[in-house]
Amino acid sequence: MNTRNVQIPQTKTVLVTGGAGFIGSHLCEQLLNQGNEVICMDNLFTGTKENIRHLLKDPHFELIRHDIVHPIFVEVDQIYNLACPASPIHYQYNPVKTIKTNVMGSVNMLGLAKRVKAKILQASTSEIYGNPEIHPQPESYWGNVNPIGLRSCYDEGKRCAETLFFDYHRQNQVKIKVVRIFNTYGPRMHPNDGRVVSNFIVQALKGRDITIYGDGNQTRSFCYVDDMVKGIIAMMNAPDDFIGPVNLGNPVEFTIMELAQKIIELTQSRSKIIHKPLPEDDPERRRPEITLARECLGWNPTVSLEQGLRKTIEYFEAVLSRSVGQ
Ligand code: NAD
Ligand code: UDP
Repeated sequence: MNTRNVQIPQTKTVLVTGGAGFIGSHLCEQLLNQGNEVICMDNLFTGTKENIRHLLKDPHFELIRHDIVHPIFVEVDQIYNLACPASPIHYQYNPVKTIKTNVMGSVNMLGLAKRVKAKILQASTSEIYGNPEIHPQPESYWGNVNPIGLRSCYDEGKRCAETLFFDYHRQNQVKIKVVRIFNTYGPRMHPNDGRVVSNFIVQALKGRDITIYGDGNQTRSFCYVDDMVKGIIAMMNAPDDFIGPVNLGNPVEFTIMELAQKIIELTQSRSKIIHKPLPEDDPERRRPEITLARECLGWNPTVSLEQGLRKTIEYFEAVLSRSVGQ
């Protein structure tokens, strides 16, 4: 398979579950820009109407407030299944609900795809690799996941969702696509969701201590949201026989200490770095192997950490100044 086989997206009716969330809202925006009819389905647990307020006026956009744990019927051509809280604070808030969203929600969306013959893409995650023993992580790696820990509701929920996708494909010939998303950041991240990029930026802008968990030598690879959305759409529109799973992420790896220092530099903050205990099962290293995405989707992230952080800082400055003005 090579990039010449990737088809240009055509106008379609597209369902985005989790479309009022961080990545989902950018995806809805891009799908509308490409001339699609977009239905955003969200229970607004971590997503907000604010994220999609600018889209609500568009006659080609529709919001359905619905929880995917319950079945629903809509006529669509494509389904992007993003509904699931993604930050540890949010997915651990009600772990049983997180599992239900991943398992029952996937069954409902796969059942819908089967019935209306839609192509369906699952937003899986690098968390399915757990605390990886192989570095960087290729798609062929099966992972090292604790099945009974605090992160398991999310990690195992997402693993089970992948299994369901492949079984619906084998058993019912549903057209599936699975992407494994690595740490993604950008405007519309939730300011209080505890993820490292939003936490550090908000702390730096407020002049509060920057909280590094552990010694800060653990690594992550951060992908700017615009790059991620391009990869997700490219995967949906790639030939049907390329079903994945495919890693999507930026392969440039940073320690959490380096990230903190970069954010302090870019915000010109006087914040001090302090250390707090490392959460349970926190992966030590994470970097995607993206050869498959490069070769089969012609996809490559183009936004550097510094460029992406500048845009994200600008966004949080506006959010914080609005909340002060209220
Ligand atoms: P987010 O929390 O901002 O968005 C998730 C959206 O799903 C929210 O709008 C939320 O209200 C909605 N939702 C949650 N449960 C639902 C349910 N039962 N029914 C309907 N809607 C529901 O998170 P995000 O960062 O935008 O992540 C989007 C997807 O990408 C998630 O599936 C996540 O697991 C995956 N992902 C994200 C990252 C990342 O770094 N952001 C990394 C790996 C995977
Ligand atoms: N982290 C940190 N300080 C914070 C928030 C997170 O040091 O205020 C660390 C966290 O322990 C992890 C990394 O940053 O090692 C990424 O955390 P995040 O929750 O953003 O993503 P994930 O662990 O799911 O990759």
